[in-house]
Amino acid sequence: MSAFAQIAVDLSAEAVDRLFTYAVPEGMAVSPGQLVAVPFGPRTLEGFVVSLSDACELPPERVKPILRVVREEPVVLPDLMELAEWMHVRYLCTLVDALRLMLPAEMRGGRVREKTRRYAHLALSGDALEAFVAANRRAPKQLELIDALRRGDAETAGLDAAALRALAKKGAVEFYDSERRRTPRALADERRTADPEPMPEQRLAVARLTEALERGGGRFLLHGVTGSGKTEVYIRLIRRALELGRTAVVLVPEIALTPQMVAWLHARFGGDAAVLHSALSAGERFDEWRRIRSGEARVVIGARSAVFAPVQNLGVIVVDEEHETTYQSDRRPRYDARAVAWKRAQQHGAVLLLGSATPSITTYMRAMPGVRPENRLELIELRQRVKGRPLPEVEVVDMRGEFERGNHSIFSARLASQLRACLDGGHQAMLFINRRGHSTFVSCRACGYVVKCDQCDVSMTWHQAENALRCHYCGKTLPPPKQCPNCGSGYIKYFGAGTQKVQEEVARLFPDARVARMDVDTTREKDAHARILERFRSGDANVLVGTQMIAKGLDFPNVALVGVVAADLSLNLPDYRSVERTFQLITQVAGRAGRAEVPGRVVVQTYEPDHYGIQLSAAQDYRAFYTRESAYRRAALYPPFTVIARIVYSARDPEAAKAAAEADEARLGAFLDEAGAREDAIQLKAAEAPIRLLRGEARWQLLLKLYFKADMDAVAERMQALADAAPEGVRAELEINPNNMI
Ligand code: ADP
Ligand code: ZN
Ligand code: ZN
Repeated sequence: MSAFAQIAVDLSAEAVDRLFTYAVPEGMAVSPGQLVAVPFGPRTLEGFVVSLSDACELPPERVKPILRVVREEPVVLPDLMELAEWMHVRYLCTLVDALRLMLPAEMRGGRVREKTRRYAHLALSGDALEAFVAANRRAPKQLELIDALRRGDAETAGLDAAALRALAKKGAVEFYDSERRRTPRALADERRTADPEPMPEQRLAVARLTEALERGGGRFLLHGVTGSGKTEVYIRLIRRALELGRTAVVLVPEIALTPQMVAWLHARFGGDAAVLHSALSAGERFDEWRRIRSGEARVVIGARSAVFAPVQNLGVIVVDEEHETTYQSDRRPRYDARAVAWKRAQQHGAVLLLGSATPSITTYMRAMPGVRPENRLELIELRQRVKGRPLPEVEVVDMRGEFERGNHSIFSARLASQLRACLDGGHQAMLFINRRGHSTFVSCRACGYVVKCDQCDVSMTWHQAENALRCHYCGKTLPPPKQCPNCGSGYIKYFGAGTQKVQEEVARLFPDARVARMDVDTTREKDAHARILERFRSGDANVLVGTQMIAKGLDFPNVALVGVVAADLSLNLPDYRSVERTFQLITQVAGRAGRAEVPGRVVVQTYEPDHYGIQLSAAQDYRAFYTRESAYRRAALYPPFTVIARIVYSARDPEAAKAAAEADEARLGAFLDEAGAREDAIQLKAAEAPIRLLRGEARWQLLLKLYFKADMDAVAERMQALADAAPEGVRAELEINPNNMI
């Protein structure tokens, strides 16, 4: 037995980001990955046992003993320990930050336990029981209870407590505890369905993937058009993995938005499937985690953090809709679940399968010729929808023409007539607008003043339901002004449209429509997503209005029409990925139409009908889009040809944020000079962040753009050190290729 343990104490601070040595007391069994309690200064803290040793270089009086073992079973398995160490280096986070991702938050500090119930059991039987009954004729409550228990053990919670106590005292009843698992709602339904016969393309894809699985792993991009049946490919590959005694993890962008994926996997894998996500109660999450940890559940479905599920002998990791931004964490540790999945698949000799109809430019590039083997993905394509169903027909409507013809409504004549025809035919429609609320901004016709949040420097959105202006960044609300706060004019106008306005317009123009709306505002309550989608699925609603929430993976057979109300909203954001995002959104949402017998139609409304992002998504031509977009990125020096790193400085005092950014600009410049890396830098600049005020804090940024071939690890490490050393009163955060440059 080892005498010493190296422990990562459960405190997230750079200053304690190292291992501390403790003595293992005589008779205590400790193993790596275990959670233990240790003295730390004046406090008792929990810590993760990282390694064990027989000797220790410290003088004995400096080594304190472990106080106790918090949980018997190691909570971090060896491969996950190794993964945490890899993340520690790769994402410049503390080891504890990485370790914390490996178990449900509530398990630390013992905030959840196995849920047990107490049962009562008859301790007497036969003659002894009859004699007892005879002797207790005067206690009818106790006799009633005995009769109940003759039929079987019962949970004490439902029984008469006084009678039970009396019986226990007389030795007629005894108690035992039994564990009861909390079953998440999404899995409560126990149907299993049969596999459909695969299409030829699906069959080929599965053959290639299972072959890789059997010969020790591989990395693949499954590029399949919308409705090509990617899920079926995942399922068959997973089934093979289970046959081989291995396990699988399926990552989805957001569980609440992909109830169908959960339902399908559950229908096929029954109790083998487990679901992990943040909307579970603490108890449910803990129980699911333990079901996975024990090997009882072998297929795990979850959002980003499910990549850390404690499965053993992993055979397959699927990342569905791999282009979604949710796979990248925007909190520390800022990990990318796709990169972590890549690493985990490597550890286990598993198959990594990224799937999408619209892969991110970065991912697709890795599936192109000329990529180094260690970065390469093999491309598998599904070019056809299942059963040879056609892709939907897409029309682009030029909204400038509508305006000239005197149609000032948010619906073009074309979209309105298609919606009429769709409803008359008894079909369903989805209307997509990437903006919630009613009007996008409120402005003065006389002087141009736009109402902005005084905490955030962004324009406020009018929400009709509460008749208030709301800031989408900090949530602050204001009553809408009757007069311009700037010039006093009464010509206050509401511009642009959001989901509420679209819903209202549908109700006004089509009184017979039954409209459901899905956006952040209608889905605040638990299970609200599921209820809205169910209303639409059942046909109770025949029009679904929503934000990008409705663009992901949904499969409703009766949808004949998809309307993209304002395709330009995401096109002109100040972000180099705005065209890519627009292409993805339009292609994905268009792909919701015509997925079964009913043919699909799509109407895309735009003020820029000739833009290649609009044209190519209307044509649903991913390959042409990739060619065009990657040429643009190469010419304009954007990722994946370059790396964008920035430190964001936030402070109450704008001068402090500015001074910190400018001081670091000089320091980083000096570092680049010293390292001989100046030529690798395309841009190095301290400036106000695009949103210069957020939640009352001033924001500055230090932006660095580097050629991809540069030694990014060294530069990132230097930038992290600068961020860690930010002056008092300034918060500094390092971001590498962040999702949003706000
Ligand atoms: P994708 O994710 O590629 O858009 P899905 O996996 O959602 O496509 O599949 C689209 C629809 O086709 C689903 O309703 C699915 O059940 C069905 N489907 C998939 N494969 C087959 C098949 N081989 N035979 C019949 N239906 C299939
Ligand atoms: Zn004004
Ligand atoms: Zn605000």
